[in-house]
Amino acid sequence: MTAVAMGIPTVRRDASSLAGRPATAFLVDRFGRTARDLRVSVTEKCSLRCTYCMPEEGLPPIPADELLTPDEIARIVGIGVDLAGIREVRFTGGEPLMRSDLEKIIAACAQRVPGVPLSMTTNAVGLEHRAAALVAAGLTRVNVSLDSVDRAHFAELTRRDRLPSVLAGIGAAADAGLAPVKVNAVLMRETLRGAADLLQWCLDAGVELRFIEQMPLDADHAWARENMVTAQELLAELAPRFTLNSVGRDDPSAPAEEWTVDGGPRTVGIIASVTRSFCSDCDRTRMTAEGTIRSCLFSDREVDVRAALRSGANDHELAELWRGAMWNKWAGHGIDAADFVPPERSMGAIGG
Ligand code: SAM
Ligand code: SF4
Repeated sequence: MTAVAMGIPTVRRDASSLAGRPATAFLVDRFGRTARDLRVSVTEKCSLRCTYCMPEEGLPPIPADELLTPDEIARIVGIGVDLAGIREVRFTGGEPLMRSDLEKIIAACAQRVPGVPLSMTTNAVGLEHRAAALVAAGLTRVNVSLDSVDRAHFAELTRRDRLPSVLAGIGAAADAGLAPVKVNAVLMRETLRGAADLLQWCLDAGVELRFIEQMPLDADHAWARENMVTAQELLAELAPRFTLNSVGRDDPSAPAEEWTVDGGPRTVGIIASVTRSFCSDCDRTRMTAEGTIRSCLFSDREVDVRAALRSGANDHELAELWRGAMWNKWAGHGIDAADFVPPERSMGAIGG
């Protein structure tokens, strides 16, 4: 199988054109959006192999010298916050916990941008051993991906029998003071049958649950619109066990629509990324583990910030590169368009 078929980069270096862009420091685009939420991928490695994300054999390794170092990550985060209007930073991957220097990355960022929320999206495998150190380093919040609380079912979805470690990790995150702990579950045919049990488990554990429609970002390119589970199907599945009432979104750029459970106050969120796209309100910008800016999950055109940084560009030049990358952001993912082509990089290779 080729690297491309496995969801590994063929980075198309973008020109980072600023033509027509208004004079503003912020990361604006041609469609009136401003990016304020930075996702930083720190690795392509992962301890699980979720079928909707990774190929069974994992992604080919990124050579060590092509990965951003903790100091480089902190510098880029600092530029984003000080010069380009970034207000929050989320570490992702691959699995961030696969980086043994994750505490160092977070500490360097916390020192560089004190007061800026630093969160992480994680599968929580091994988190039980590191939650306290990550909080001490400056981590403020965590989102855990968990699709099933049935051990056999979890192992089938992730191709790894690691549910006990994930559940221990969720407990350790709460004990370490990370609040709120949120759980994300991707909607698959296989997930649907355990969705009500998962919701009940999250209600009992005091963690917030959000279901996410599966997007065509699997490394195997097996996603098909006609097979995907929609938010509507999930609501029908949950209806016999729970009374759900929509309370809308927290704010317009929040992707999740919230529903009260059995009259509230507890809620469940649904991110209908495919059937109710929120692209027109998107406020995200992404940095891949190799240091390329990616303006949209679905666009393989990336701007190589690492190369500029390592060849001596100053902070203002790097910020300008970033602005150019975002100015050229697409209007939306276009999944429903007849000519839609999924991106070459899979979710795990981009950083979800
Ligand atoms: N390993 C970490 C984790 O699983 O949380 C961080 C990286 S993972 C790529 C980030 C998020 O992307 C997870 O919540 C995961 O469920 C989600 N994700 C992965 N593939 C997806 C897909 N095809 N559609 C929708 N969400 C997806
Ligand atoms: Fe790994 Fe996260 Fe992708 Fe699952 S979703 S394979 S845990 S990167």
